[in-house]
Amino acid sequence: MKTEGRPTSPMAANSNDVTTVSGNKALEQATKLIFETGTPNRTGVDLPEPKGRASRLGGHERHGEIGLPGLSEPETMRHYVRLSQKNYAIDLGVYPLGSCTMKHNPRLNEKVARLPGFADVHPLQPTSTVQGALELMYELSDWLMTLCNMPAVALTPKAGAHGELCGMMAIRARLDADGASHKRRVLVPESAHGTNPATAVQCGFSVDEIPANDKGRVDMEALREKLSGLGADSDIAGIMLTNPNTCGLFENDIIEIAELIHAAGGYFYCDGANFNALVGRVRPGDLGVDAMHINLHKTFSTPHGGGGPGSGPTVLSDALKDHAPVPYVVKTDDGFDLVEDANEASFGRMCAFHGQMGMYSRALTYMMSHGADGLKQATEDAVLNANYVLASLSDVMTPAFEGSCMHEALFDDRFLQDTGVETLDFAKAMIDEGYHPMTMYFPLVVHGAMLIEPTESESKQELDRFIRSMRHLVERAKSGDVESFKQAPIYAPKRRLDETQAARKPVLRWTPPSEDKQAAE
Ligand SMILES: *Cc1c(COP(=O)(O)O)cnc(C)c1O
Repeated sequence: MKTEGRPTSPMAANSNDVTTVSGNKALEQATKLIFETGTPNRTGVDLPEPKGRASRLGGHERHGEIGLPGLSEPETMRHYVRLSQKNYAIDLGVYPLGSCTMKHNPRLNEKVARLPGFADVHPLQPTSTVQGALELMYELSDWLMTLCNMPAVALTPKAGAHGELCGMMAIRARLDADGASHKRRVLVPESAHGTNPATAVQCGFSVDEIPANDKGRVDMEALREKLSGLGADSDIAGIMLTNPNTCGLFENDIIEIAELIHAAGGYFYCDGANFNALVGRVRPGDLGVDAMHINLHKTFSTPHGGGGPGSGPTVLSDALKDHAPVPYVVKTDDGFDLVEDANEASFGRMCAFHGQMGMYSRALTYMMSHGADGLKQATEDAVLNANYVLASLSDVMTPAFEGSCMHEALFDDRFLQDTGVETLDFAKAMIDEGYHPMTMYFPLVVHGAMLIEPTESESKQELDRFIRSMRHLVERAKSGDVESFKQAPIYAPKRRLDETQAARKPVLRWTPPSEDKQAAE
């Protein structure tokens, strides 16, 4: 391959590389792994030797070092504070990652979540001692069902993808209860989030793709043709569709899509990750939706956690509500109770207990502090902000589709044509400008996609700063300054990482240097 003067390695040296003895750069401290910082014989606590206990391990006790890092308290503090300073966060700056709704997490949420009645309760406590917590869950369910106009909600799923699993398991339970176990085909649009087909397959369905049209929406011709002549006893189990879709566009034909699917005896799963564009304006139940997950960590301002404390409640239609998982909260004559035992229709249980209490308290705080009018306003501001970004950049970047957008602005890489700069280079250059890059190369239906979701959190001044930076980068790209784009990020602590190797061959375990040497021999 010809590299035309490009550095052969993306991590090639540059004038900005660190030259200090310590590895520190001014006030930015170099951070080693915790294992490399401590030594096993050091500890931050001083516990007495246990004595007078006979071992009951039958000779299986460990004799060698277990290799835990040993650090004093100040060393531990520094380690984690240094790591935290390397994080980019919504509390630090604009986080325009599309499809993820990185909105501000209000501090009031934190205050309420820390109240002992919500934070210090245990799932095995008698329900008579946790009435307030159960009431909060009941109230949250009520808000979610009202906003969606749906008769039931399962609170237990712990992420959006887990919520998809919940919805599809409810659909499967309903099909099986109806003696329709031959219905195993799920339609999934080409622009779907990867979790949709993954969920369908996980539930034992086969996936049948529907193409997108040149307006970034479901190709209705293709869908009608696929379903033509199929009666209610067809093999169609349902459709999984995101609305607004992953191109940031409202599916205009959604009512007809729901009708077509129902006529083929299938159920309509709506991926509700983009609910932030609809709250207070459109109720999914009115669109014919049978099941939809809601990412509390997107729409309702709870923190995103890498596989950690998410919550993806799933609303269910009349047809599916009896198949909801346990446990769920009910109101009784003298308070609230948790229904723990699955009846025959319920598909069972998704997790040991009731789900993510800490997220419920934050989400309900957000809802109640905004009120119905405030939630609607947040939605409108999110859509307005995205359209402001789209309009302000469409003369220099290339919008992927004509017209206005919902809550996210989608561009493609046509504006970079013949500049030698690629989507990836452009995103890396944004890091030097102090921004977390937008979502790149997704949705796959758009070449070199750049998906920007500003959310309602950003002020006009902040958006203007962002837009100025983007316009500046475009200008530089078009002026032939390819080399600096290929070098970016220059100011980040780590330069271009080998993302392919990291995904294909992740090194997940630290081995002490001595073992490394042995392994090499
Ligand atoms: C985020 C997202 C999901 C998955 O949600 P998680 O909470 O990350 O599991 C599914 N679909 C779409 C469109 C999303 O944006």
